[in-house]
Amino acid sequence: RAIDNGGNQALVYSADMSNREQAWVAMEAALRQAFEQDQFQMYYQPQFDVTGNQLIGMEALIRWQQADGQFISPAEFIPVAEQTGMIVNMGQWILKVACEQAAHLYQSGLRDFVMAVNISARQFQHPKFLETVARIIDESQIDPAYIELEITESTIMQNIEHCIEILQQLKSLGLALAVDDFGTGYSSLSYLKRFPIDKLKIDQSFVRNLGSDKSDLAIVRAIIDLAHNLDLAVIAEGVETEQQRAMLEANRCEQIQGYLISKPMPAAQAVSFVNEKLKRVV
Ligand code: C2E
Ligand code: MG
Ligand code: MG
Ligand code: MG
Repeated sequence: RAIDNGGNQALVYSADMSNREQAWVAMEAALRQAFEQDQFQMYYQPQFDVTGNQLIGMEALIRWQQADGQFISPAEFIPVAEQTGMIVNMGQWILKVACEQAAHLYQSGLRDFVMAVNISARQFQHPKFLETVARIIDESQIDPAYIELEITESTIMQNIEHCIEILQQLKSLGLALAVDDFGTGYSSLSYLKRFPIDKLKIDQSFVRNLGSDKSDLAIVRAIIDLAHNLDLAVIAEGVETEQQRAMLEANRCEQIQGYLISKPMPAAQAVSFVNEKLKRVV
């Protein structure tokens, strides 16, 4: 059965494909088209020290705005881009745009910050990954110390020995490394100490009910202590309330990111946000 995909491509579906598979095939075609039509944009979400006074970084987050103005969540399309391999090209574009934005922020006077960029598993495992990162950093003329790659806990726990090697090479390029969604994967703690990482990001699922769920509080405390004992920085993501922030501060978490401070915003707005901060410091 051939279905018109609202334009150029006619997709061929076979009778034994599940609805889910069909949805993925359609999504893949839509993603390719979206790429050609420049429907992707990077947004940036500030990261602060736990008091909320000092800007310490920004996380680059991809956005897909369709022609009708509607946004499709990366939680929906990143997994498809992963499965189809499109993430490799998309990831290069993401890193390039984020590095250029970091260079721009540096030129406007921002210092002591990192631009955090999400790297998906397939991208990380690609044989040319290191080479590509090195080239993009070089081309954007940003000091690699300002770029932090976020790799999820589940990614680094696949093929551990190989992963340690890649991480070491990324470190020797001068990049910073953070483990994203920490607490949701299956980290072997004995391996964690061997990874040349700089930061743990506490997954937002533990932060959400910090005020009401005793076990979430216990997990958050355990991650903070683990980070400190391994000499790693620690950031909590998804911080939405003052209560959550205060509990994180009381438990010596150093950094926060979340709607309490700011939602992710388009590049131009992120630049004004930084310029406001810089003015206040002077
Ligand atoms: P992530 O890397 O863990 O990103 C954090 C997510 O939490 C982002 O969702 C962010 O917008 C959202 N968030 C931040 N603060 C709050 C808050 O206070 N409350 C709530 N409820 N949410 C908050 P987003 O942008 O929809 O991205 C979802 C996931 O998609 C990301 O999780 C990441 O895994 C993936 N993703 C997003 N952008 C990229 C990208 O450029 N490359 C890759 N490989 N993956 C990306
Ligand atoms: Mg992230
Ligand atoms: Mg995360
Ligand atoms: Mg997440």
